Amino acid sequence: MPEGVMKAWLESSHLNGGNIVYIEELYESYLDNSASVSAEWQEIFSQLPKVEGSEVEYRHSAIRDEFRTLAKQPNKQVIVSSSSDTKQVKVLQLINAFRFRGHQNANLDPLGLWQRDQVRDLQLSHHDLSENDFDKEYNVGSFASGQETMKLGDLYKALRNTYCGSIGAEYMHITSTSEKRWLQQRLESVQSKATLSVEEKTDILNGLIAADGLEKYLGAKFPGAKRFSLEGGDALIPMLKELITRAGSAGTKEVVMGMAHRGRLNVLVNVMGKNPSKLFDEFAGKHDDVHSSGDVKYHQGYSSDFVTPGGNVHLALAFNPSHLEIVNPVVIGSVRARLDRRNCDRGDLVLPITIHGDSAIAGQGVVQETFNMSQVKAFKVGGTIRVVVNNQVGFTTSKQEDTRSGEYCTEIAKMVQAPILHVNGDDPEAVILATQIALDYRNEFKRDVVIDLVCYRRHGHNEADEPSATQPLMYKIVKKHPTPRQLYADKLATEGSLAKDKIADLTAYYRKLLDEGQCTVKQWRPMTAHSVDWTPYLGHEWNDDYDKAISLEKLEELAVKLSTYPESHTVHSRVKKIYDDRMKMATGEKLLDWGMAENLAYASIVDRGERVRITGQDSGRGTFFHRHAVLHNQKDGSTYLPLQHIREGQGPFAVNDSVLSEVSVLAFEYGYTTAEPAGLTIWEAQFGDFANCAQVVFDQFISSGEQKWGRLCGLTMLLPHGYEGQGPEHSSARLERFLQLCADHNMQVCVPSTPAQVFNMLRRQVVRPMRRPLVVMSPKSLLRHPLAVSSLEEMSTGEFYSVIGEVDELDSKAVERVVFCSGKVYYELLEQRRKNELNNVAIVRIEQLYPFPEQELAAVLEQYQHVKQFVWCQEEPQNQGAWYCSQHNFRAAIPKGTYLTYAGRNASAAPAVGYMSVHVKEQQALVTQALTLD
Ligand code: AMP
Repeated sequence: MPEGVMKAWLESSHLNGGNIVYIEELYESYLDNSASVSAEWQEIFSQLPKVEGSEVEYRHSAIRDEFRTLAKQPNKQVIVSSSSDTKQVKVLQLINAFRFRGHQNANLDPLGLWQRDQVRDLQLSHHDLSENDFDKEYNVGSFASGQETMKLGDLYKALRNTYCGSIGAEYMHITSTSEKRWLQQRLESVQSKATLSVEEKTDILNGLIAADGLEKYLGAKFPGAKRFSLEGGDALIPMLKELITRAGSAGTKEVVMGMAHRGRLNVLVNVMGKNPSKLFDEFAGKHDDVHSSGDVKYHQGYSSDFVTPGGNVHLALAFNPSHLEIVNPVVIGSVRARLDRRNCDRGDLVLPITIHGDSAIAGQGVVQETFNMSQVKAFKVGGTIRVVVNNQVGFTTSKQEDTRSGEYCTEIAKMVQAPILHVNGDDPEAVILATQIALDYRNEFKRDVVIDLVCYRRHGHNEADEPSATQPLMYKIVKKHPTPRQLYADKLATEGSLAKDKIADLTAYYRKLLDEGQCTVKQWRPMTAHSVDWTPYLGHEWNDDYDKAISLEKLEELAVKLSTYPESHTVHSRVKKIYDDRMKMATGEKLLDWGMAENLAYASIVDRGERVRITGQDSGRGTFFHRHAVLHNQKDGSTYLPLQHIREGQGPFAVNDSVLSEVSVLAFEYGYTTAEPAGLTIWEAQFGDFANCAQVVFDQFISSGEQKWGRLCGLTMLLPHGYEGQGPEHSSARLERFLQLCADHNMQVCVPSTPAQVFNMLRRQVVRPMRRPLVVMSPKSLLRHPLAVSSLEEMSTGEFYSVIGEVDELDSKAVERVVFCSGKVYYELLEQRRKNELNNVAIVRIEQLYPFPEQELAAVLEQYQHVKQFVWCQEEPQNQGAWYCSQHNFRAAIPKGTYLTYAGRNASAAPAVGYMSVHVKEQQALVTQALTLD
């Protein structure tokens, strides 16, 4: 039917907008089975247009949209043909209302504190129905009761059970009909009630006994000690065990979890199988930590295996700082690394579970970032199970008006149309059903899903806190409220599933395990199922000897390959020129520039069969138009990556233009690198100072993860840095901040100044077995500087020089002043020195500022022992750059009795000036100052 005719039909019909739900339902029934609707309706629907012989969803939507439009027109009345039709329409509207708004009147809060108005749409009277209609049969449309018609009384009860019991399901914001139907099927077919055997019920009870038993035991044995008790949210334990068991049964091999403090000790002991005696030792202050700083017990991660009907599942609980929510991208990155290693791009083999607090999930932006990443090619993992331990209070802040603007703490999940299952934490059977649905949904649709475990916090934020001081009414109720274990034990006893003495035995048995210091998780197995061996990377030092050289022939071969692309691939003229030049560099006609050297490093790594993963906001092309690792066909937009065509069987090469975020992307890459020691992983900032937005990741993970937790990380960070007059925000990568974080040889901070240096620095990060983070002040104008070029020969040594001495042939005896510097300013010093023929001034580049290359510098300074004037030259203001953090290293290196001076910008609050003319003047002054003899 052409559109105009359909409109005319709709407008002339006695059915219009108010009856949309009825028609929708009828039409869907008709699509399923045409005989299921009356002959009259068959006639109407059969006239609707068909696409390639069949009615399709898009036609259906067109009708729906049309009816919606009509419904908005005020002069249209709801007119139906008969009163039974009217009631039928109302019944379908009632079903719809429960699906949309049932959760608002669900029984979710164990404490009964939630003040929720009765939702009018859920009342019969709102739909012109009443109990007088209860005995009449109505078509129930798509309501998944397994019956076509039901008595209104039965239907109403089924709707209330399904949508207003202990599970409040929010899913009608999902636009995919198949996902909605799937969820309806799962909820409505069982009226949101789990069917469980006595054995399964016993397992649930055991989980609650364990959750409660451990906290009580710790509370008695270590009174007042911080343990961030799970009590109130005890159902988390059976929930996690169900998730792992069901995932394992479905073929999952690894589960990675992330959570903050609350309940962490409980999860470690009662899910991960950490031996309680180890935990008790930690409470008593003992530790067998070999890491230099160690960390408090409620930040510790753990690894173990867990037996399931589908085989052993490896469990990893990520180490976690106190910064709530930041662990989420770390966990997801770790999962992606494991999936990549297993060549699983659908996400079946590894499952991420992130556990959130209610205030934090609503409050912290990193949550939004990870939802946004969840379906993005470079970051997706086939969906994350997100559990909220919603204890209705964040430290001492509990009023909704203080913590969020949305109705639920989980509103953010709707941005990716994730289903949200709110569930009453005092009804563990409902918790198990919600858990099963969530996991099956994730596995079916490969998307995120949220379980909002509505519970409470029995004690204060920690056990030394007095919660009644700030939450007097809540804690009056909490004090009298029976524990989840007590409630469920009573229920099982009352219904006759378990005798009281059997329940007492289970409780006593758990207590005995704790007394004897035995593992409390019967599914625990010693760790064998994890997919990578870290031992080759352990115990290495900076100066380890390793096989670094690469032959010239190999370099030439790789250089040609990475400069080649199919003739049919039409690239932009500017890119073509760059690639033509690259071919000349490959064949020895030109020296190599930065972009070529970098690409060559990647080629040499994938040629070793190892992986390269680069992620950043414009990494394919490079912010400064220098990398061009992705070639865009100007005719059809297709892409070609020469680095994916180096050789048969090469390592994978991925360069990802990332979502516009720093903190979650960097945390993701940290997670990736701490789970995958092989290959090269790079995060690149668009401009170096944008790394500010990811400061928590540098502070809490990258700089200190090895010292706190013994977790190695070989992540490389390229941070464009250099003073070129682009203003305060585009000049500095805040070198000083990284240097200030350096101690214990925790990471490397490098400022390479030549293409050969960047080539060898990147290769070293992979070829050398040591795994430590590498922070690089990477260049901007140097990318095209005529002097910043290198030969293939320089690259083939494989040597990264931490210090580069004077390159011109100066008579060292005639040298009266030595200038130390790093980065781009070197070329300005060199050019001015050459121009003014200042042959008594030598320039020494420090290419690695941390760990400071004492021996290498000493070797270079050997020839300048007579020199009295040493100067550190930097572009940054005096309170920034390397001056304050590194000057002690220079002072220690220069001969006794000599002095070190500073040549650079004055101290300044802003990193750089905003006016080009002032910049040029300052730059000229600092170069001149550095080169002028005192
Ligand atoms: P996971 O798969 O994360 O549970 O790790 C399994 C085991 O591998 C851990 O118990 C550690 O012994 C080791 N391991 C994992 N990640 C690292 C890392 N980043 N650095 C050093 N060892 C690690």
